[in-house]
Amino acid sequence: MRALRLTAWGSPPELVEVPVPRPSAGQVLLRVGAAGLCHSDLHVMDSPPGRMPYELPFTLGHEVVGTVVDAGPEVDPVWLGRQVAVHGVWSCGRCRACRRGRENYCFALTGPVGCGLGYDGGLADYLLVPDVRHLVAAQGADPVRLAPLTDAGLTAQHVVRSLDGELDGATAVVIGVGGLGHLALQLLAPADLACLVAVDPRADARTLAIRLGADAVTADAADAAEWLDDREDGHGADVVIDFVGTPETMRAAGDLLAPGGRIVVVGSGGGSIEVAKGRDLPRGFAVAAPFWGTRRDLEEVVALAATGVVRAETETFTLDEAPAAYARLRAGGVRGRAVVVP
Ligand code: NAD
Ligand code: ZN
Repeated sequence: MRALRLTAWGSPPELVEVPVPRPSAGQVLLRVGAAGLCHSDLHVMDSPPGRMPYELPFTLGHEVVGTVVDAGPEVDPVWLGRQVAVHGVWSCGRCRACRRGRENYCFALTGPVGCGLGYDGGLADYLLVPDVRHLVAAQGADPVRLAPLTDAGLTAQHVVRSLDGELDGATAVVIGVGGLGHLALQLLAPADLACLVAVDPRADARTLAIRLGADAVTADAADAAEWLDDREDGHGADVVIDFVGTPETMRAAGDLLAPGGRIVVVGSGGGSIEVAKGRDLPRGFAVAAPFWGTRRDLEEVVALAATGVVRAETETFTLDEAPAAYARLRAGGVRGRAVVVP
């Protein structure tokens, strides 16, 4: 089968031929229906040797939807033939975090994290999944729309669920309207926000943000601060979700924050923020840096998609085109999510 593999740090992945994996006890084999391309993959491939706790080579692709075509012994045959969304955090299922339903913070994940992040992922014709615990049934859904929900949508859902009780009447700012950000806007829309501002330097991303329910858009986070200050009910934002995470956006997030407000840093752009009392951040601030999402978050976002609350905007590519699609993502040319259909 074909697989897009990372073979050297700091280099683009290569499309190579590898054997189709054979499921052993407890494992299943999926025929990949669709796999999303995440900006995190660019951070991974750009890493110098030693930064990521992963051994090379491995197949990229951590947003995967497929159909179960084979199963090892001990797997309930009911899974065969089912379309599934893959929960890519391949947690241990036994540690305290897993027992509490916080699989994304599994204590055993000190090296490879899961699908396409240290273990072979879904940018291939087939994907081996180590346990049916990592599958969420998604019969009948369009695999292209579904794939982005397994990371972009799942991470956004994890963030929005963590803000439960903080959104009613709040002013929120979303920085970065790409794969994750455009889904976060949709997940925030049902909340009773006072005001939702989206920030993105790309004009088409700002147009998309307005269509998805943003009350205002700006090209840069500093302009969002100005826009909020000019409002009668000014005083900054109660919630800032930063899907970029560069030094520039994180500084702006701090400047935007209202007293008692929360900054959620999702983007891995290398920025930092000083968490110190009585300095730059307003009284009562909170800062969080969540990672991916739980299995329950995935079930929820898949259910929200089934009822039309959330719908990924996608651009579709073949596996041969995947390297070019990554280049397009890097250049900021993708609207919503790039999805590969092998
Ligand atoms: P993307 O490339 O699809 O979207 C990023 C968006 O940010 C683009 O629309 C871009 O125009 C915009 N942007 C760039 N610079 C900006 C700036 N200064 N101000 C405002 N907007 C700006 O990326 P993505 O796949 O959505 O991922 C976003 C980030 O989240 C990446 O850093 C990725 O690694 C990270 N990520 C984190 C998690 C997690 O669990 N914490 C999960 C997935 C992705
Ligand atoms: Zn665990």
